[in-house]
Amino acid sequence: MGLFDRIKRAFTGEDKVVKDQDLDPKEAIVLDKYERGMEKTRKSFSERMSDLFTGWREIDEDFYDDLEEALISADVGFAMTMALTDAIQEAVEERNVYQPEAVKQVMLEEMVAIYEKDGQASPALIENPDGPTVILFVGVNGVGKTTSVGKIGYSLQQAGHKVLMAAGDTFRAGAVEQLNVWGQRLDIPVVTGRDQGDPASVVYDAVKKANAEGYDYLLVDTAGRLHSKANLMAELAKMKRIIERENPNGVQEVLLVLDATTGQNALIQAKQFNEATEITGLVLTKLDGTAKGGVVLSIRHELDIPVKYIGLGEQASDLQVFDAEHYMYSLIRDLLEK
Ligand code: GDP
Repeated sequence: MGLFDRIKRAFTGEDKVVKDQDLDPKEAIVLDKYERGMEKTRKSFSERMSDLFTGWREIDEDFYDDLEEALISADVGFAMTMALTDAIQEAVEERNVYQPEAVKQVMLEEMVAIYEKDGQASPALIENPDGPTVILFVGVNGVGKTTSVGKIGYSLQQAGHKVLMAAGDTFRAGAVEQLNVWGQRLDIPVVTGRDQGDPASVVYDAVKKANAEGYDYLLVDTAGRLHSKANLMAELAKMKRIIERENPNGVQEVLLVLDATTGQNALIQAKQFNEATEITGLVLTKLDGTAKGGVVLSIRHELDIPVKYIGLGEQASDLQVFDAEHYMYSLIRDLLEK
């Protein structure tokens, strides 16, 4: 039984949501990562939602105003808040419910429904059928780009793939060394190139090595920062050209790394980067460090870019493939159990 089914059984009183019972052991580990990584967000979200229902009088305009305020302060975003509040209001009226418990249930059901209709799991990485799959990582300094390259390298390696990393962020002091440390720790080779000042030569060497030695994945840490849209476009276009010369299928993924602790700013960054180059997916880091984890909802609602991975801590294994079921379950679990 999937987690959405479990949530629904909890709604109908058929089942209390018990997390470990008859979960596949692998899934139990992933769920545990999600639950721990999302603790701050869950606590603050549950508190805000519970507050809505204490001192309850009747369901009126004030209730919906308070609901909107609670959602916005959880960084769910304006557009998502409006869509959700409308959906909840419509369902409450249609079903004629007045009691707090019933309204709460409608609210949780609508949150799950908005997610479920988008599809549950994010699309998997786009693979190169013929040669190494090349993934470029872009993002502003400090968002967790280099760390994410290391973590994704680890998860691909764990899945049995042969992984190569390229230290193409020659702009940020220390980024090359930092990736080298990840490489040594994980036993994944890192191409640093002959000339550390020129990312193009690093990428050239890396793609040649990946082809010649039969690597499955080439992960490229770039200095793809947004100092100006024109510069970013030029930088990435140059990298793509170099890669295409050696690897006819070119680049499969351009992943934008965003820091979840910056809340709605992450959304603004995603929009700006997406105007400069085609972003194929997002990596949302540091969810463990923020109560603003609702930003995942607004990013999914407002952008047509899938969140492919989320960062739930600093360990190599704390990066997880984004999955809507796990996310929603971890977000609303406390509310289900009350
Ligand atoms: P870059 O400049 O984008 O390459 O950023 P770094 O990879 O150097 O990461 C900046 C800081 O964020 C480092 O201290 C990382 O350990 C930390 N970091 C990255 N991802 C996560 C995460 O998912 N959770 C937490 N708590 N810290 C993270």
